Amino acid sequence: MKYGIDMGHNAAPDTGAVGIKKEDDLTIAVGTRVISQLQALGHQVVNCTPKSASSVMDSLSKRCSTANANNVDLFVSIHFNSYNGRTSGSEVWYASNSGKKFAQPVLTEILKLGYVNRGIKEGNFYVLAHTDMPSILVECCFVDSADDMKRFDPDQMARAIVAGVTGGQTATTPPPAPSDPEIVKLQQALNRLQVYATPTGQPLAADGKLGPQTNQAKQRLKTIFAISPAETEASNRAMWEAITSITVDRVVLRPNHGYGPAVRYLQFRLSVPPTGLYSDATVSAVLAYQKAQGLAADGVVGPATWGKLVP
Ligand SMILES: [Zn+2]
Repeated sequence: MKYGIDMGHNAAPDTGAVGIKKEDDLTIAVGTRVISQLQALGHQVVNCTPKSASSVMDSLSKRCSTANANNVDLFVSIHFNSYNGRTSGSEVWYASNSGKKFAQPVLTEILKLGYVNRGIKEGNFYVLAHTDMPSILVECCFVDSADDMKRFDPDQMARAIVAGVTGGQTATTPPPAPSDPEIVKLQQALNRLQVYATPTGQPLAADGKLGPQTNQAKQRLKTIFAISPAETEASNRAMWEAITSITVDRVVLRPNHGYGPAVRYLQFRLSVPPTGLYSDATVSAVLAYQKAQGLAADGVVGPATWGKLVP
């Protein structure tokens, strides 16, 4: 089947409603997903949204001309409502009986997502009246309704519309990219150690994929540990030994001893120059940290202090 998909507005001066979110953004969010999902199901799709328009009427007229010129089987115009901030729900408009046959199943699918039922409605909107084929106009929900905007998910909305216009087909979700449990373990360890891609970075997504962020964070951790950054077995083994000494063994660090990676990590966390030696500057920083955390301030980093640093 050949679908004409019209993402409402987005052609100034034809701009949509603005509430908690912008209708222009949401019609694109839903429309692009409807298009890709229909294509994934093997359907032909014509995007009827104009790139520009000289007036609102020109914008509407271009949408219809594109649908008519391409002889689509069904024209679907995607919109969002806006009213008084308290009104919510979904409705689907049609102008002919042939359109009505699609309006009800689309609304039924959308209502499964939990929106208030505002019914299917007959109305001679410009795009419904000037398209030569069955056509519907979907008012997905209200951009100025807190309830609707909380519930709204563009992917779910697109799936509902696609299911409605195809008679129950839903695009299959592509299988997730393989996730490597070893990488997940590394990502979780890096997050636990608060070593991110950049000094001010965010925790990593534990997705099991060795992307640039995870790689950067791993390199940072090796640098902190003063381990060769090379991707060799020896380097990685040394890194894991150091991680384990902190997160599992909770190795006890005492003043005036050198403990290598664990002390370097401690120095990184307490912003002490990374010497790897548990020297005076490190002792002072540990005492201050222990006091601030309400721990016994003895300058010895044992399970209690590690428990605060690396919960
Ligand atoms: Zn609209």
